[in-house]
Amino acid sequence: MTRLELDGVTREFGATTAVDDVSLSVEDGEFFTLVGPSGCGKTTTLRLIAGFESPDGGDVRFAGASMTGVPPEDRDVGVVFQSYALFPHMSVAENVAYGLRFREPPGDRSREERVSELLELVDLAGFGDREPDELSGGQRQRVALARALAPGPSVLLLDEPMSALDARLRERLRVQVKRIQSELAITTVYVTHDQEEALSVSDRLAVLNGGRVEQVGTPEAVYREPASRFVAEFVGDNNVFDAETAVETEGCSVVVDGEEFDVESSSREWNVLCVRPENLSFDCESNRFPVRVESVEFLGDAYRAHCDWDGRDVLVKTRERPPTGEATVGFRPGDATLL
Ligand code: ATP
Repeated sequence: MTRLELDGVTREFGATTAVDDVSLSVEDGEFFTLVGPSGCGKTTTLRLIAGFESPDGGDVRFAGASMTGVPPEDRDVGVVFQSYALFPHMSVAENVAYGLRFREPPGDRSREERVSELLELVDLAGFGDREPDELSGGQRQRVALARALAPGPSVLLLDEPMSALDARLRERLRVQVKRIQSELAITTVYVTHDQEEALSVSDRLAVLNGGRVEQVGTPEAVYREPASRFVAEFVGDNNVFDAETAVETEGCSVVVDGEEFDVESSSREWNVLCVRPENLSFDCESNRFPVRVESVEFLGDAYRAHCDWDGRDVLVKTRERPPTGEATVGFRPGDATLL
């Protein structure tokens, strides 16, 4: 069932169109992510879903019903913001219970039972009597999550909930959030500017740019088959070259600055060639071109070589240590993406 729909939604602030004719649908139980660079309209889209903003055009629907005129507290959503916004002088348990101010706990549980159930869910059983300043950043964000989930909303909205945390803690917390989301099978819309995070947690994601949707798809589809140059460059490391269709050749080939490459494609209308760093290799026999290896990073499980090809930056990711200085790289025809 479609739990949540945005149908041609637009929101303007003066001369800025923050959200520009956005249409999306999120299925029941889905973990759906809005990802894109700063200012692309992610937070405004989330606020339109929550009801903190009203659209200037289009409609937001929950399970088919228009939300026009419905205030946030009647929308059956739980929201977690970037800043924890916990009440400093209330205990952890009181903060979670605050989530129940508009609604009775679901089922026939008492408030106390609901609060301890949620503290257990977010791995904070026994922390109920502490105050927020006696917790770590990750623990505080889990209290905010428990508070949002307390009334048993049908949609959970998360706006950059981990951006204040350090890298390792973010990784741990996102695994926990994902586990809780699938345990509850709660429809979730997650906002992040971190494309790696978006790929790792989502069932599907929408890549936003300048208030518009560039692409919606599974993480694999968005990574492997980017719909535009913007997506190809924003999601994951990529080598993106201006290209032309080769004239008068048999089969499929594409030309970058006079250098011709064999590719696999059903169309012949390309002007961009993309090759992921992991698909370039120093010992590939096909589609070879000369580079100068400028520097090499060791990543633990791989090496990343920063190379120069006639003034173009080229990234190559390999398991074996890359050569230094002048070298040749190549890629298999099936490993290129053409746009
Ligand atoms: P970030 O990742 O930096 O939080 P975002 O993708 O969430 O960015 P939004 O916060 O939705 O982007 O903002 C989209 C655009 O709308 C920006 O240009 C922003 O400056 C503008 N904007 C957002 N809210 C308002 C407001 N209340 N008044 C005026 N302009 C606004």
